[in-house]
Amino acid sequence: MSKILVIEDEAPLRRALRIFLEAHDYAVVLAASGREGLDLAAREHPDVVILDLGLPDMDGVGVAAALRGWSTVPIVVLSARDAEPVKVAALDAGADDYVTKPFAMNEFLARIRAALRRAAPTEQESVITTDDFSIDLGVKQIHRNGSEVHLTPTEWQIVEVLARHRGKLVAQKQLLQQVWGPQYERETHYLRIYMSQIRRKLEPDPARPRYFITEPGMGYRFVVEEP
Ligand code: CA
Repeated sequence: MSKILVIEDEAPLRRALRIFLEAHDYAVVLAASGREGLDLAAREHPDVVILDLGLPDMDGVGVAAALRGWSTVPIVVLSARDAEPVKVAALDAGADDYVTKPFAMNEFLARIRAALRRAAPTEQESVITTDDFSIDLGVKQIHRNGSEVHLTPTEWQIVEVLARHRGKLVAQKQLLQQVWGPQYERETHYLRIYMSQIRRKLEPDPARPRYFITEPGMGYRFVVEEP
């Protein structure tokens, strides 16, 4: 079930969106302000964010820019008809799509489905196979020697971020922001602890990692040799 975070200060619209989206089998998380929205985005890991541009505490453009500092979650902006420049600014700040108020619910639903499709990994890249284990990003499972390896949700999120950037250096700060949220970007000891747990579960020789490589002082890299 995909999870949608709705950041909207108008209570009646917020309620209507919840009822409508839940009726279409989405899990819904609601925020009434920009701050609350950013907080919930970090804690709830939504699959799509619906973002109203006119919020009481900070403007939607600022919320989109803050989200883009650490997250690639699709953002669909809700904007008033007369707010063209703001809408453009939101797209420039990293929003993916927009719907103009008042909107038809079916059109709104189509935009959400399109955003989810764009964010989903394509078939061919959703399974990563190494000599020792395979990671299926689609169903969130790892198999090793024919049986499933059980990771905690946090371990899985770290593996997932690294796997989606395979071969590339992922900075400590980026990993902390994506897994724990923006207020944790200095807690590098979390990463050392979790990375050693992940290596114990997946590396053939955890003391000499072959897949989950530390770049000292920089970050981590997931390395898979091409077959
Ligand atoms: Ca509003």
